[in-house]
Parts: sequence; structure tokens; C-alpha cells
Amino acid sequence: MDDTDDPLLLTPGPATISARVKQAMLHDYASGDPRVIEAIGFARRYLLELCNGAGSHTVVPILGSGTSGVEATIGTFLPEGGRLLIHTNGIYGDRIIEIARHMRANHTSFRTAPYTPPTAEQFEAALAADPAITHVMVVHCETSTGILNPIEAIAEVCRRRGKGLLVDAVASFGAFALDAKKLAYDAVVCSANKGLQAPPGLAFVIAKRAALEESKGNARSLTMDLWDQHQHMERTGMFRFTPPTHLLLAMAEALREHQEEGGIAARQARYRRSWKRLVDGMRQMGFRTLLADEVASPIVATFHDPPDENYAFQKLYDGMLRRGFVIFPGRLAAANTFRIACIGVVTEAEIGRALDALAETLAEMGVTRMGRAA
Ligand SMILES: *Cc1c(COP(=O)(O)O)cnc(C)c1O
Repeated sequence: MDDTDDPLLLTPGPATISARVKQAMLHDYASGDPRVIEAIGFARRYLLELCNGAGSHTVVPILGSGTSGVEATIGTFLPEGGRLLIHTNGIYGDRIIEIARHMRANHTSFRTAPYTPPTAEQFEAALAADPAITHVMVVHCETSTGILNPIEAIAEVCRRRGKGLLVDAVASFGAFALDAKKLAYDAVVCSANKGLQAPPGLAFVIAKRAALEESKGNARSLTMDLWDQHQHMERTGMFRFTPPTHLLLAMAEALREHQEEGGIAARQARYRRSWKRLVDGMRQMGFRTLLADEVASPIVATFHDPPDENYAFQKLYDGMLRRGFVIFPGRLAAANTFRIACIGVVTEAEIGRALDALAETLAEMGVTRMGRAA
């Protein structure tokens, strides 16, 4: 796929991008160059189309990683007298709480079990307990475990109770549909560098037009004000400040790739094939997944560390890197785990090679007990 000897990233961001997308960056264009303006326009139109948002929604790009997109969204959509309910069942939900705390945003939070999806009743109860809540923020795919939270059920509760819904879809966007006409959200945050397979450094917020219009004056940050960014972009087609021209060119190319691959369905199908190959292969070796398959997403799989005294994550990591693959440590205090992601330009065949590399590395380490309790 690429003629470099860069390792293949089996991590949930950054994700490996194609040579074609990297190639698209090799230009120095001015901010107002029609090719830059067209790249911005195409990216905004294509992302809007992906979530069926024509008419009701609009797309606002913002500089930074996915976290910047989440921060800009809270800062823009939560009004002075508003109150945000944050749901968490993992590290990325926890990060939203941390952002709200830093911003001194008026918020409350509730935590549900990490390995089972939350229910509509739990959201009903949290909202009933605190009538001052105006907005709800949730993570769609919680990347620290790979669990997929039931966004349809959550959106329905918010709609019925008249709460604005903000979604962190950084991990899932591009591989999962978030239909704006069915889910009635105020904002969905995505980033360039996960399922969209563009270089890191840009976030995009799919915003409900009516909610964005009402958000004028909310933001206490100029660079992170989505309302201001949007009005400028609608008028001029440009960013307010120096645009990340190279990233925008690459982003447009990555979206053309997404389109040519067959859109969301095809991308999800490829991730699913990779994920299935991975999980099946790991189970054959004796590994156990943290999650039951029914609640797992094909974005990333989390495995229990082998209960073998010769096992150390760092050694596994180093051995895999020598063989051309980057894997990821677990992110849970409660369980000793490691993660392997299926996003980026990764195919089933490459997952097969990664499994061979893993078996070799473990043999080299002298690890023989992979998962079954001793
Ligand atoms: C990766 C990720 C983020 C944060 O993205 P960064 O680009 O690392 O800032 C936020 N939410 C979820 C669910 C993610 O997977």
C-alpha cells in the first residue's frame, strides 16, 4: 500500500493514511487559492451528506485534534444559563468531564458500567434528577474499551425531554451513520484522523443550524468559537485565520477515497472484516476479549493481558514494532489489557500478518499461557 518502511499503526489514532492522501499535501497554496477553498467546500458538503444533514445541519471545521472539537462544541453550544449532563463509561467520557471542569462549564455527570451499554432508563433517571439540565453530551464509540453506546435510544430520550444532544463521534465517524434526520442532535464532533483516514490536526463539528444560530456570543474563546468560524466560512468560504492548507488538501483527498471505497457501509464492512480476523485469530491463540462481541465495535478490540509471568506489555510492543506494527496499551485502571485497532488503511490481510508477528513475539518472550485462568 505504501513504499515507506513506516510501521503500520494498529492504534485508535493516529491511524495509517494512504500514500495518495499524503501525496495530496505536497503543495504550498495561499489561503484564498481556489483549490483550498474547493477542498474546504467539498469536505463540508461531503461530511454533511454522510450524516444526511442537508437543510437542517451545517459543518464547521476547527483546528486541532478531536479533543479540540469537543472543547469547541461545549464552549459554543452551552449558553450562559445552561447546564450540561455528561455521560461516561470510559476514558473519553471522563475527558469530556475534564474539559467541562477546565472551562468552568456548568455541568454534572453520571457514570455507568464500562463493559455494558447504558440504557435509556439510566438517561431518563439522570435527567429527571436534575431539571436544570439543558444539554447532554455522550461518546458514541468509547475507544478505551471499544464499546458502542446506544446513540439512537439516547437521542430519543433527549428529543422527548427537549434537551440538546452533543455527541463525541470522534472514533466512529466515517464507519457509522449518525443520521441527522433521525437522531435530532445539536452537534456531532468528528476528527480528520480516525475513520476518515486523513492526517491529524483538524476536527469537524456537524451542527444543527438552528442551535448554532442561537449560540452567538456563548463562546469565551475566539479561536474555538464555532459560531464565528461558521459565519465567516459561509460568507467567504475560508478560515478566519491561517488555514491548515496542507491538511485541507489531504482531507479532501481522504474523503474522495471514502467515497470511492463505497462510503460508510463499505468502510464499516472493511473494519468489521479486519476486526473479525483479529478477534478470531487472538481467540485461537487463547486470548480473551474484554467485551462481549454484541457490544463491541469494529474500531478497536481490547484484550486481557496473558496471565503468564513472562508477559510484559512493553516487550510485546517492542517486538511488534520491530516487525512493523504499532499496538496500544490498555487505558483502564481496573483491568490489565492491551488494544489493537482496525482503523486506517488496514486490511484483513495485514491483520493476518500482525497476528503472525504477535505469535512470533510471544514465542520469543516465552509467553505460553495467553488467557485461560491457570
Ligand atoms: C481519539 C478520541 C478522542 C480524542 O481525539 P484526539 O484527536 O486524541 O484529541 C475523543 N473521543 C474519542 C471517542 C476518541 O476515540
